[in-house]
Amino acid sequence: MKALVSVKRVADYNVKVRPKADGSGVELANVKMSMNPFDEIAVEEAVRLKEKGLITEVVVVSCGLSQCQETLRVALAMGADRAILVETAVELQPLAVAKLLHALVGREAPQLIVLGKQAIDDDSNQTGQMLAALGGWPQATFASKLSIDGGQIQVKREVDGGLETLLLTLPAVVTTDLRLNEPRYATLPNIMKAKKKPLETLTPEMLGVEVTPRIKTLRVTVPAERAVGIKVPDVLTLLEKLNEINVL
Ligand code: AMP
Repeated sequence: MKALVSVKRVADYNVKVRPKADGSGVELANVKMSMNPFDEIAVEEAVRLKEKGLITEVVVVSCGLSQCQETLRVALAMGADRAILVETAVELQPLAVAKLLHALVGREAPQLIVLGKQAIDDDSNQTGQMLAALGGWPQATFASKLSIDGGQIQVKREVDGGLETLLLTLPAVVTTDLRLNEPRYATLPNIMKAKKKPLETLTPEMLGVEVTPRIKTLRVTVPAERAVGIKVPDVLTLLEKLNEINVL
């Protein structure tokens, strides 16, 4: 059974991003880029399933600039077998990525498709759901535990006030939440080995997918500064203060 895992190249989560001077987007020049953290969890989970003998091949996919190859090499060093880059300089929005992944699923026929629940740059949380809808496949989002048994997958997902357990028939789309696992670090020997693993480059045109953006970013600005807080000596004063500003 094959797993297809998508990995997005995003500004590293430690970087404090800022808008471009003209407000047209986020400044990415000279910014450290890394694999989207939820996608690291997705790769880790697929590799663990392979190590348990439940999956035979892990194929990782990234869509975007040629620099996404670096992200794919990290996934290969973590244990993925093969990588596909869908190269384009066009700014990709979730529907376009979902269509590209849908086309790749048509070529690769994986039984399990794993994505992060959201990309930390656009915070869209849309691609997995759109992909499942395009393919008519069952989906389990925000997975915090999963187990495969025959042609089915059981997924525990984090919902308000608890955990929901779903049983899905494969092929299915799963998106990962933070508590699913703790991703491994790519070791130096594995980074060296990953350089020899296959990496195929395709284009949206080769997949017959139109990726023109449908949403226009009008402006990106920094959030308003929070007013400075005050410290109160005890609960009584806190209640008085809250009363003053009509919160109670
Ligand atoms: P989003 O819907 O943008 O929040 O992204 C959700 C997930 O879709 C991410 O965690 C990735 O697994 C996948 N994804 C989004 N954009 C890309 C991309 N350009 N390349 C590969 N995977 C992507």
